[in-house]
Formats: sequence, structure tokens, C-alpha cells
Amino acid sequence: MPNQHSHNAELDALHLLTQLVQTIEVGLVVLDRQYRIHLWNSFMENHSGLRASQVRGKRVFDLFDELPEEWLTSKLETAFLLNNRAFTTWEQRPYIFKFPNSRPVTGQSPYMYQNLTIQPLSNRLAEVNNVALVVYDVTVEANHRQALSKMSQIDTLTGLANRRMWQQHLDQEFERNRRYSHPSTLMVLDIDHFKSINDTLGHSAGDLVLAAVGQKLSQLLRKSDVAARYGGEEFTLLLPETTQEQAQMLAERIRSAMSELTVETDAGAASFTVSIGYAPYHQGLENNKVWFEEADKALYEAKRQGRNRCILAKAS
Ligand code: GH3
Ligand code: MG
Ligand code: MG
Repeated sequence: MPNQHSHNAELDALHLLTQLVQTIEVGLVVLDRQYRIHLWNSFMENHSGLRASQVRGKRVFDLFDELPEEWLTSKLETAFLLNNRAFTTWEQRPYIFKFPNSRPVTGQSPYMYQNLTIQPLSNRLAEVNNVALVVYDVTVEANHRQALSKMSQIDTLTGLANRRMWQQHLDQEFERNRRYSHPSTLMVLDIDHFKSINDTLGHSAGDLVLAAVGQKLSQLLRKSDVAARYGGEEFTLLLPETTQEQAQMLAERIRSAMSELTVETDAGAASFTVSIGYAPYHQGLENNKVWFEEADKALYEAKRQGRNRCILAKAS
């Protein structure tokens, strides 16, 4: 009997399809026009802790307080009315359903990052009475992307801001000073005879010294200060709310701390000194480039006078 045969084949196909829906590693939810749940697959069960039998027939917004109801209903209504598929990403909203991140690593979000597709579903009369929510776990990708964007602002060797991030801070601080005239100081620090550390102990020992300088600077500074690795062995510090006298004390503290530091390397212990130039903000500065040049000239003067010293910039 061909009819019976084709009926069985259809049931087999349905059975396969059901397994697929249940086991696929994305969340599948089917809602009706009242936002009541009709389908809730294993992915949703596993991450929400709620069985399909517990949620079926209930309004999704009654079960999950965290859902952005206004935002989501407007998306759902568009899908129902226009039969349009919609897509949202974790960058717009980190998550739709607040599921715990199943593999949390320190510093990462405790929640699962999600992308969402809203897919209108039509019946045999081409009426759209249901929508499917397709929930993708994009935690790994999101963490990767966030790490990358953080890396592009931070110097990996020292953990300080890189030159690009520093420039952004300098622009902001200069504008802030120009408007509100806060005391604020820019400092430039350069390791003395760094080339000889590289030459005698090797380049990787030199790297360890740079890392140690970065760490020491972070310890000595306030939270609102910005320290950056400006170039090879040159560092810049932006010190908001810091007067000339305070800057002088800090510069001296940094100079002395560096001269007392010993860095253990495979090739032996490295000790070194630094030279510092510092330039308090003043109204005569035309732009932040001039501000930086004043500090840099003072640094040059510290080198000229014999290194291992701090020199106050002359206002130009
Ligand atoms: P001065 O007291 O006049 O500043 O002398 P110096 O030897 O410190 O100055 P110079 O600018 O001549 O040399 C800086 C050296 O820093 C040259 C370069 O090879 C080294 N350098 C730059 N970047 C790095 C780095 O990332 N790692 C290491 N190990 N060395 C670096
Ligand atoms: Mg140097
Ligand atoms: Mg240098």
C-alpha cells in the first residue's frame, strides 16, 4: 500500500526533524501572537533550567523578567505584521535570555552572550501566527573580540596604555584644562643608558626591565593618572589634579624608586636609573603638542645635565 508507505516515511522524517530541533546547539523557541511558548528545545531547557512542560502555554515575558519587553515586542510585532526576519547581535544587547556563561573565565561576562534571529513562521494558509526565536551562544566570539579591542589600547610588554590610547587621553585632558583650568602635569620618563642593558644582558633582559618599569609606575600612580609606553624605553604620564609642587615630589619618588629597583634576569641582575622631564599645564599652551614638547625638552635637559634627575619644564 503506497499510501501507508508514504505516511510512514513522513512520520520518519518528522521524527528525525524533532531530534534535530532538540539536539541542535542553538536555542529554539516558538511563540504565538500572545507571546505564549509553543516550543522550547533542549538547549533552552539546559540553559534556563526550565523543562518544556513547565513553560509551554505560558507568556515568555511572565517567565523571564530580564527580557527587554518593550524592545522585543516591537521586534516581534514587526515580524508578525510584515513577515520580516530580524536579527540582533550581542553588540546591541549582550544577551536576551540571562543564562549563565557555562565556561566563565576571570574578567569575562558571567552571562552567555547571544545573537538572536526572529523568524516569522506561516501556516498552510500563509498566515503568520507564530514566530521562532533562534538564540545563538556567541560567548567565545564576544570574549575574543573584547580581548582584541582591549589589546589594541594596551602595550602588552608593560601593561600600560599604548601610544594610541595615550593620545586620546592627552587630547581629552588638554581640552578639559583649557576649559576649566585645573592644575595638571605631563611627565616624560626615559631609561638612562638602556642600550647598554641590551648590549650586556641581552634584549630579553631589556624587555624584563621595561616590564618592571611599567609595573613600578602603576604602583606609584593614582587611579586617575594615565601611564603609557610612548616608545621603546620612553614613558609618558598624565597627572590630572596635580600641581607643579606635587609633580616634583612624585617625579622624585619615581626617580628614586627606579634607582633602587633590581631586576633579576637569566643573564644577571639589572639596575638602572631614569631621567624625567615634567611640564605643568598653563594657559599659554597653544595645543597639546606644545605641552608635550615642553616636557620633552626638560627630559633632554635632564639627560644633558648627567641623567638620573628630574627637571621642570620652562613655560614657552
Ligand atoms: P639615554 O640615556 O640617552 O636615553 O641612552 P639610551 O641607551 O637609553 O638611549 P637610546 O635611545 O640610544 O637607546 C634606546 C634603546 O632601547 C635602543 C633600542 O634598541 C632599545 N629598545 C627599544 N625598544 C625596545 C624593546 O622593546 N625591548 C628592548 N629590549 N629594547 C628596546
Ligand atoms: Mg634612554
Ligand atoms: Mg629613548
